[in-house]
Amino acid sequence: MRTCDLCGGSEFRPLPFYYEFEGQRLRGTRCRRCALMFLDPQPTPAQLERLYGKDYFTERPNYDRTQQEVKFIEDGQKNQALNELRPDKFTDYILARYPGRAFRYLEVGCGPGYTLKSLQALGWTTHGLEISVHAADFARRELHLPVVTGNIETTEDFHENQFDLAYMGDVLEHLLSPAATLAKFHRILEPGGLLVLALPAVLNLPAVRLGFAAYGLLGKERRMDIPPYHLYEFTPATITKLLNAQGFELVELRNPVKPPRHIRLGGSLMEKAAKLAGQYPTYWLNKLTGRFGDRMFVVARNAKPV
Ligand SMILES: [Zn+2]
Repeated sequence: MRTCDLCGGSEFRPLPFYYEFEGQRLRGTRCRRCALMFLDPQPTPAQLERLYGKDYFTERPNYDRTQQEVKFIEDGQKNQALNELRPDKFTDYILARYPGRAFRYLEVGCGPGYTLKSLQALGWTTHGLEISVHAADFARRELHLPVVTGNIETTEDFHENQFDLAYMGDVLEHLLSPAATLAKFHRILEPGGLLVLALPAVLNLPAVRLGFAAYGLLGKERRMDIPPYHLYEFTPATITKLLNAQGFELVELRNPVKPPRHIRLGGSLMEKAAKLAGQYPTYWLNKLTGRFGDRMFVVARNAKPV
């Protein structure tokens, strides 16, 4: 029988949405004990392999920009451009708090390795793990970076206390066992080492919570019109519990909402209208309270004994 990845419980409540994948229904589910949300059943490892076929990484520009990057390199100004840091939430946060510190750093989901390369220029020791064969090859061949092709759940490439900083963006919700993955970070990060996670929190939005309640009352459920990429849906409460359970203490949790113009609209005309009407109140509610956002930026410290 399936047990909850966070608390080990086995009493679940169905949520009013599901995915259809290869003739199977994968249902949104919430653990009654700890409120972790996940799909039940999960896709099998073989199904996941089909789900993340070649197209996933070549057709989604966010995941693999390698072809563009190859052109950019051929166009010249290579080294100067490569050493230039492109600021983002993660580097802004770390460089502001730890100026001048050279970390032993692991980036999970490093793509073609541009961020790793620029952090190396700051004196950091950088390692990468990347599931796209194409992007990982590029990082090794063109940027001479120690990037391993693989999956954080199955890789055996890293050893105890190897790193003092790790970053993983938009990966945890795709994995079969987030708890086992955090346990792995607990092992490969030294005592006091930092783990930074970026992840979605879509089911944390007030509009989605209200929608669930309404669907529940009406006895309706919604078939999702995308493949089942997210095996888990986290909230600030459940990600905090999961980190604590695997030996991390929370340093910071930001829960912003995407500005309205960045929210992609889908569904029927009525659904589009409802989403638009919900966006601005949600945006300002989030600005005022710092809660109910649909993104999370989480910093946690490894609390294992020295
Ligand atoms: Zn649970």
